[in-house]
Amino acid sequence: MEIVVVGAGIVGLEVAWHLREAGIRRLAVIDRGAAGRGATAHGAGLLSHFAWNPLDARLVRRSAELYASQQAELGGSFFRVTGSYVVVGAPTEPGAAAASADGDGEGTRVGPRDPGQGGDAARHATGRGGLPPTGAVGDAPQGRTAPATEEVIRRLRRRVAMLRAVGVAVEAVDPAAGIAAVPAWNWDDIAAAWFLPHDGALLPGDGAQLLARRLRQREVKVLEGSPVRELATGSGPGGPAVAGVHTAEGPVAADVVVVAAGVWTRSLLRTAGLDAPIKPYRTQLSLWALPEGIDPDDVPPLHDVTGAYYWLPRQGLLAVGDGTGLVEEDPDAFRRDPDPEFLAASRRRLEHRMPAARGAEAVGGWAHLCDATPDRRPLLGPYGGVAGLHLAVGFNGFGVMRAPAVGELVAAFVLGEEPALGGEPVAGIESLRADRFDGFVDFPIGQGFNTVDAD
Ligand SMILES: Cc1cc2nc3c(=O)[nH]c(=O)nc-3n(C[C@H](O)[C@H](O)[C@H](O)COP(=O)(O)OP(=O)(O)OC[C@H]3O[C@@H](n4cnc5c(N)ncnc54)[C@H](O)[C@@H]3O)c2cc1C
Repeated sequence: MEIVVVGAGIVGLEVAWHLREAGIRRLAVIDRGAAGRGATAHGAGLLSHFAWNPLDARLVRRSAELYASQQAELGGSFFRVTGSYVVVGAPTEPGAAAASADGDGEGTRVGPRDPGQGGDAARHATGRGGLPPTGAVGDAPQGRTAPATEEVIRRLRRRVAMLRAVGVAVEAVDPAAGIAAVPAWNWDDIAAAWFLPHDGALLPGDGAQLLARRLRQREVKVLEGSPVRELATGSGPGGPAVAGVHTAEGPVAADVVVVAAGVWTRSLLRTAGLDAPIKPYRTQLSLWALPEGIDPDDVPPLHDVTGAYYWLPRQGLLAVGDGTGLVEEDPDAFRRDPDPEFLAASRRRLEHRMPAARGAEAVGGWAHLCDATPDRRPLLGPYGGVAGLHLAVGFNGFGVMRAPAVGELVAAFVLGEEPALGGEPVAGIESLRADRFDGFVDFPIGQGFNTVDAD
């Protein structure tokens, strides 16, 4: 069997990894750029077990196991178990009043330092500019009212109960315990908090490059700088079937094509007269050098649900990000610079929650794209009624922390096996199958940091 995986992001590489583990040798991963330099290198790298439902929790847990074993095999240091906090704080974007919490109403303007051009590290120039406050946060799209704190806590308690029921370790943290554990944080307005001891921080671009290198050592072709221009189909015994792909260098025959092309998936599918319900949206990350005396590696990852932001240590810096841009973007023409408003909001959030970080230096940031689906679940496995065509897309901003498990599931689909995680069958797999959709359907892009999904 000849298999082509289109896209050498973390997802395509994990699919290839599991196919190779299953003994497949005639396997090529083709990327128009460099391995892991699409959305993957731009991901913040939080691995959070605060999942939406039991199956989602299994994907994250299995991914954490697989990342740990892959790191042991590949070397490097792209995955570290840190534990992380989920907190319900006061909204940090009440408007102009919060904007002036900087003291001068100004934020920080920096250009992007694009990890797509190199490693995962960060460095760059800074400047200052007058800035308005940022826009939507939390459960509410722009212009709508966010649910009351009590309602958020009620939903999160239900989610915690669901997670515990499936074996995820989640510890409730009262403010006194929080202050004792992380005294540098401002716990005054935290109405509820939980600690997830098995959460971690990843450097996804580094992990992807190590996977690509090992796949090559194991005779998998990993072709970079090779755009796939067309998905070729023909007639098989039972109807339409994959014939291969056309790259810039010419045709590549294949019995199976796995499309792991992220936000660029639709344009590739269209070359075969197909389409899928995927909308690219923009999300941003900012990078901060903390003042003398605070080591970012000692700062636990944080997800402030009501504030709709998160942070985690990243290569000697603190990465601060927020949720979902609710507008559909053109994957070939989007703004890669972080917005000044976002940078200003990130500073406010950082200085509010960790007062000792006042005066942190903004050293970088970027915007990149994530791929939304109508039900915020991925699209995995057989698609379009075309034999041999599979998808591994639609991660709604959380693809890195699910990629190894997704690779395991999609490899099973490709090999015609019952999808399993670590040898255990997967209940509810239909909810992730790509063929629950047939073509594009319109849908609103949903906020990433919502509390509703567990309901
Ligand atoms: C700011 C930000 C923060 C994020 N934070 C997190 C986080 O903390 N945790 C988390 O789990 N996720 C996070 N994500 C999401 C995560 O980065 C993505 O879900 C994940 O990287 C998707 O991986 P992928 O392999 O599907 O996509 P990509 O990495 O984009 O890979 C797709 C690949 O396909 C290639 N390709 C496309 N079209 C073609 C073609 N025609 N021919 C050849 N190659 C093609 C591209 O070049 C690309 O390399 C974040 C994303 C952003 C932008």
